Amino acid sequence: MSAPLLVAVDDDPTLLQRVERELRNRYASDYRICCLRSAGEALATLEELALAGEQVALVLAAEELAGKPGTEVLAEVRPLFPQAQRVLLLGWEHVGIAEVGDAMFEEIARGRMDQYVVRPAPPPDESFHLALSSFLLTWAEAARRAPHTIDVIGETWSGRAYELRDVLGRCAMPHRFCLADSAEARAVLDGAGERRLPLLVMPSGRIVEDPSDLDIARSAGTVIEPAGERYDLVIVGCGPAGLSAGVYGASEGLRTLVVDSGSLGGQATASSAIRNYLGFPRGVTGGDLARRAYEQAWIFGARFAFMQQIASLRREDGHVVLTSETGGVVCASAVVLATGASYRRLGVSELEALHGAGVFYGAAASEAPLVAGEEVFIVGGANSAGQAAVHLARYAKRVTLVVRAAALEAGMSHYLVRQVEETPGIEVRTGTEVVGGGGDGRLDHLVLRDRGTGELERVDAYALFLMIGAQPRTGWLPPEIERDPAGFVLTGADLSDDALGGFERPPVGLETSVPAVLAAGDVRHGSVKRVASAVGEGSIAIQQVHRLLTARV
Ligand SMILES: Cc1cc2nc3c(=O)[nH]c(=O)nc-3n(C[C@H](O)[C@H](O)[C@H](O)COP(=O)(O)OP(=O)(O)OC[C@H]3O[C@@H](n4cnc5c(N)ncnc54)[C@H](O)[C@@H]3O)c2cc1C
Repeated sequence: MSAPLLVAVDDDPTLLQRVERELRNRYASDYRICCLRSAGEALATLEELALAGEQVALVLAAEELAGKPGTEVLAEVRPLFPQAQRVLLLGWEHVGIAEVGDAMFEEIARGRMDQYVVRPAPPPDESFHLALSSFLLTWAEAARRAPHTIDVIGETWSGRAYELRDVLGRCAMPHRFCLADSAEARAVLDGAGERRLPLLVMPSGRIVEDPSDLDIARSAGTVIEPAGERYDLVIVGCGPAGLSAGVYGASEGLRTLVVDSGSLGGQATASSAIRNYLGFPRGVTGGDLARRAYEQAWIFGARFAFMQQIASLRREDGHVVLTSETGGVVCASAVVLATGASYRRLGVSELEALHGAGVFYGAAASEAPLVAGEEVFIVGGANSAGQAAVHLARYAKRVTLVVRAAALEAGMSHYLVRQVEETPGIEVRTGTEVVGGGGDGRLDHLVLRDRGTGELERVDAYALFLMIGAQPRTGWLPPEIERDPAGFVLTGADLSDDALGGFERPPVGLETSVPAVLAAGDVRHGSVKRVASAVGEGSIAIQQVHRLLTARV
């Protein structure tokens, strides 16, 4: 396969030359560089490249090309190369100008560009290359070419091969799927003797036949044993709140364990671009944010136990004892519950049976490339559904957003409603619900119902993504932990008088009705349901744990 291309287009020859020099000096050994002088030339070349089946990783366009916005070229790249990163080259003198920022926000919201980068200064300009490297990594992840990628080889897309992809995805382990009869898979299987499918081919070349979920967990961290190891702090949940509590707990000297029934990142890993998290002006994927936080916590000394669900909690001899589903026990002086929330089930039995075989809860980011050229449906009317629709529209033939409410505005941020409306290939069906569907081993159709008229319609469907609201993951907690009617955990000032009666001192702000058990993030009643607030609550919880441990109550 020939090397992917980096394309730059600028009608100012001097400026183009500078960009070309930077691209050639740094990237020519791994990418082909193609520099073009006009919008027309760029579009013709990109069309030829697409027809020839070439891969384009990055397109850089000047702010203006012959008096027209460079985004006119970038917008045309999407249908030709859905995974290519489309980046506007910005003069440094424009950074901080309100009108320029507004215009770029508008163009990003309308899906006409992905990123911007300030034009390269005289070399070496490491900040230019830092930005370019991050764009190339985003492309590589979307194109399943990220470094250290695990290959999953299976006979079908569904069944155990899907479960393995799901586990690896939740463990934030980059992977790609190859059908056993594909050329890539045959290259591995030929000469590897008789092998049981599905199997994993590790980046080292080692072949692992159908590992259990726990095997994968072992390779990724600690296993909770029945002996009952002691920690200062156990955090249940490894989403943004749990990761933040892990970083702060370990960095402040607490012997800390973070446990998750899946792995890193929680709901945030379903987000293809978090654009409102402080410090990431170009946005960050939930997976990337989680990996960074995990490394940070690991370096400070936190330990992690993945794929281990905590099933019970009790207080015993002044400690909190947690038991895992598989009988593992762990004791802690304090516990932070950061178990977040998960998608509600649709409750249509024939579709539940196709979970993983065309029907997915969340997970749009990782499944997106698999729906290229197909009919895709999303059920949900909140921001997560809107983001998924915009993301999947890059790949799918058409994305239909099925919303029970009469208007999108009922549940989605204004900017996202506009983005959904303006993204080509998205159809919105309000006042509609999915009431049935099926397929032979894989989803092939859905039944939609018009809520106004009651009329039923059968439609062809290749994939269904369900994003129908979150419910807290608190069903496993003992009754002593007070919850609101929806199941979210009450803390601090929200506790009932009865619960307050069980304390010998006022509870700290994030403390639940069980002393020394705190709650942070989406699982907590009244939380804001954002990454930044979950991270903030995770850090506040640690300051409060310190107060409790110092006072020994
Ligand atoms: C598609 C999507 C897009 C989003 N986009 C944005 C965005 O752009 N900006 C933004 O600010 N927010 C966004 N959000 C919201 C944001 O992701 C959440 O607010 C945030 O992840 C909450 O973090 P958390 O740590 O509280 O919980 P979660 O992220 O839900 O993590 C909870 C973790 O606990 C684990 N767990 C649950 N029960 C147990 C148990 N019994 N034992 C062990 N582990 C358990 C789960 O496996 C999970 O990993 C988005 C959410 C979704 C779904």
